[in-house]
Amino acid sequence: MTDLFPAAFVDRHIGARREADIKHMLNAVGLDSVDALAAAAVPDSIKQDAPLQLGRALSEPEALAALRELAGKNTPRVQMIGQGYYDTVTPPVIRRNIVEDPAWYTAYTPYQPEISQGRLEALLNFQTAVEDLTGLEIANASLLDEATAVVEAVLLMRRANKNKAAAGGKTVLDADLFPQSIAIVKGRAEALGFEVEVADLSAGLPEGPINGIVLQQPGASGLVADATGLIAEAKERGAMVTVAADLLALTLIKSPGEQGADIAVGSAQRFGVPLFYGGPHAAFMSVHKGLERQLPGRLVGVSKDDAGVPAYRLALQTREQHIRREKATSNICTAQALLAIVASMYAVYHGPEGLKAIAERTHAHARSLAAALESAGVEVAHRSFFDTVTARVLGRAAAIVDKAEKAGVNLRLVDADTVGISCDETTTADHVATVAGVFGAGAAGDGLDAHASSEAAAFAIETPAVRTSSYLTHPVFHAYRSETQMLRYLRRLSDRDLALDRTMIPLGSCTMKLNATVEMEAITWPEFAGIHPFAPDSQTAGWRELIAGLEADLAAITGYDQVSIQPNAGSQGELAGLLAIRGYHHSRGEAQRDVCLIPASAHGTNAASAVLAGMKVVVVATAADGTIDHADLEAKIEANRESLAAIMITYPSTHGVYDADVREVCELVHAAGGQVYIDGANMNALVGLAQPGKFGGDVSHLNLHKTFCIPHGGGGPGVGPVAARAHLAPFMPGDAAAWQGGPGEHGVPVSASRFGSAGVLPISWAYVKLMGGEGLTEATKSALLAANYIAKRLDSSFPVLYTGEGGLVAHECILDLRELTAKTGVTAEDVAKRLIDYGFHAPTLAFPVAGTLMVEPTESEDLGEIDRFIDAMIAIRAEIDQVGAGEFAVAESPLRRAPHTAAAVVSTEWDRPYTREQAAFPGKVRTQDKYFAPVGRIDGAAGDRNLVCACPPLDAFED
Ligand SMILES: *Cc1c(COP(=O)(O)O)cnc(C)c1O
Repeated sequence: MTDLFPAAFVDRHIGARREADIKHMLNAVGLDSVDALAAAAVPDSIKQDAPLQLGRALSEPEALAALRELAGKNTPRVQMIGQGYYDTVTPPVIRRNIVEDPAWYTAYTPYQPEISQGRLEALLNFQTAVEDLTGLEIANASLLDEATAVVEAVLLMRRANKNKAAAGGKTVLDADLFPQSIAIVKGRAEALGFEVEVADLSAGLPEGPINGIVLQQPGASGLVADATGLIAEAKERGAMVTVAADLLALTLIKSPGEQGADIAVGSAQRFGVPLFYGGPHAAFMSVHKGLERQLPGRLVGVSKDDAGVPAYRLALQTREQHIRREKATSNICTAQALLAIVASMYAVYHGPEGLKAIAERTHAHARSLAAALESAGVEVAHRSFFDTVTARVLGRAAAIVDKAEKAGVNLRLVDADTVGISCDETTTADHVATVAGVFGAGAAGDGLDAHASSEAAAFAIETPAVRTSSYLTHPVFHAYRSETQMLRYLRRLSDRDLALDRTMIPLGSCTMKLNATVEMEAITWPEFAGIHPFAPDSQTAGWRELIAGLEADLAAITGYDQVSIQPNAGSQGELAGLLAIRGYHHSRGEAQRDVCLIPASAHGTNAASAVLAGMKVVVVATAADGTIDHADLEAKIEANRESLAAIMITYPSTHGVYDADVREVCELVHAAGGQVYIDGANMNALVGLAQPGKFGGDVSHLNLHKTFCIPHGGGGPGVGPVAARAHLAPFMPGDAAAWQGGPGEHGVPVSASRFGSAGVLPISWAYVKLMGGEGLTEATKSALLAANYIAKRLDSSFPVLYTGEGGLVAHECILDLRELTAKTGVTAEDVAKRLIDYGFHAPTLAFPVAGTLMVEPTESEDLGEIDRFIDAMIAIRAEIDQVGAGEFAVAESPLRRAPHTAAAVVSTEWDRPYTREQAAFPGKVRTQDKYFAPVGRIDGAAGDRNLVCACPPLDAFED
């Protein structure tokens, strides 16, 4: 601590590390050491009894060397397995300037649209590309993966189908769906109690009422067939229709919308996003107009700011789980924003002609391969396909896949008689020749020219399925074709936004801490990024060692027995944990236990996940001090004694305090036969100090994109590992590609691939190794110190709503604006928007209490930045007092008129009752560091009334 150079990583990660700074902060808090603070804040009843043992902290070069060694144990091969994952070229300009650029990856979810215009535009481009390619009017800004997108579509159909004869009917999945999609649907359907039938729909629809059907184009077997007739027949019978589609294939084949589908879903992975051993990848969903209010996930729309300038913001937010709780349309919160942005920019970069050229080349390679196989006497399953050739090789499949592996190519072993070969953007004529050779076929023709050959011409997409409509006609998909233009476009967009590379983002519950560069470095290494999720284990030893190591470290940190990193967001960890609880009760013959108690203050995903796990939500009241109301808890337990499945509590609570009686709450629930789910999103207040697995939890999820340094990416990726005690271990998520989902089968998978968003795990792995047990514990204490310092300094300006033992908070604090609002009319939202003029991202607004701001500084901010924030808040309080004193009306105040754009403050007309200086350079804002919001206050409601969710014409912005 005294020896600043060469510094240990912990001294880089923790912001306030200087002795004098720590003393200054402790003084304000009124304690003499950080240990005394931790000892006073954390209740004795839960304190961890032994320090974390995670081995010696590594230096940055050591951590990179260790990662290199792990990477070296993976073997990148030519990946022709397909099954939803295809190799692709990430254009370097996109890799370096998005994936590796903190301006993009450290941004938060765009809930504050005025400082998020850049990423909102990129996400709108994504939506527009998906809408065009799928032929449906409204697309969301990403889902978690293709298989979970399929299940979201199934659930949407079950909500939206109002046809009396069909609505209650079964869900029918075509047998040519990817096995992982079928498994995920079966797992959810079992919990929710609806019937699923898997049928070969090329033979027609099954008998009986059908709620909805799901088709896949191209099918898992590669088949491309026009489904217009089948879709019309399904609709005739009152069923709704979802098509799982491949975006690249859609440049050549008739879109789902044109075939009559209501919904399209799929993965945007092959639009420039590496394989990443299974994720993160952006899935998409698009729907017909009329279904937009049912759409899960986030939706970017166009509205206007207070000067009438077109501006983007998230639309129809009242659909979202954080508002609707158990009535939510889905539990998706964190999705795959960064990956959607990458995919959108791949479309911007290549444009429609470029995408089509890539698709045609991919198709040509597949055709020449099929021709070579057929001419050598190998049976090829279909003549109409896009990229995937299915070969029938009676009993020889395993031997062929093995032989291909030895030749450096991974193929898909479908079954003993069937091999799948998928071509992609990276396929070359050499690859095709190698594969043909493995099958004993001669030369495959010379690649690109081969499709002109007569044999290859015998394989063509059947005419009715050929696409004739145009797509990506918007100028954005044509304007940035040179790298110079592309680079500047990316820079222009990111310059509009505030991310962690410019300011602290003090978002309570979201833990926006440092995403260190050293932690990020490994994720794009080919030995990690280039691995297919279904590659044989012999090629993935490094990955699996890294994952097992991280799981073991997380188990040690949380005090649980077992961890699965499969869930690819916190919401999915919740679902996995609740499904584990459900499986456990069922296995003990207590299937009637289906009530989940959830405190009123819980995050909206908790209730939504409980419903998706087939549980009934019973809300437990909050006491005046912010803790769980014990009388109400006991009454609710009593009323549901026989049917109690679980309680979901967040610890420390969403109110930012350590409830001293959490053990007692856990014991009450256990005594009634229930299980305890502890939402670990607030683990940043616990690491090294207390362990949920030891103080009463049976299962928890963590948010690696909060506590463990995976950047938020503007709304994803995330990783939400589920951690459980031993009795729940058999119910942890299984492998969707292998899971059969028979009655009572354990291990319901929650993600398409075994290890979920594996690709970003090196970040958390590195964080834990760089910090070590002691460093992690110091980080927690520093987070407590920073939060308590802010609470003490701001309490007289904005009263801190809840405190725990000794008047202390945990790692965050809620600032209560309600009295000020009642007196002056200035709202918490006004403060959030005014902070933008001071160059800050707002704290969490209106969660968990309306009319408040929740501040979480994290351990990564130094005293200078924390003080800059405090000063801004105090200056804002003075402005509120100006309103209170009648100096100006609230409607005319710099608070309500915030944020101020450069255009507003330089305009010739200035009729506001405050100066331009106060508008643009309030408090201590330095002219040379000034951030101007690109748009003024956005009118969200106007945008919702007139919903536009595609790129507007460019001239909308000329004025
Ligand atoms: C962030 C958060 C979640 C949800 O996590 P996602 O990764 O966004 O799905 C759940 N509970 C709490 C308390 C959270 O803060």
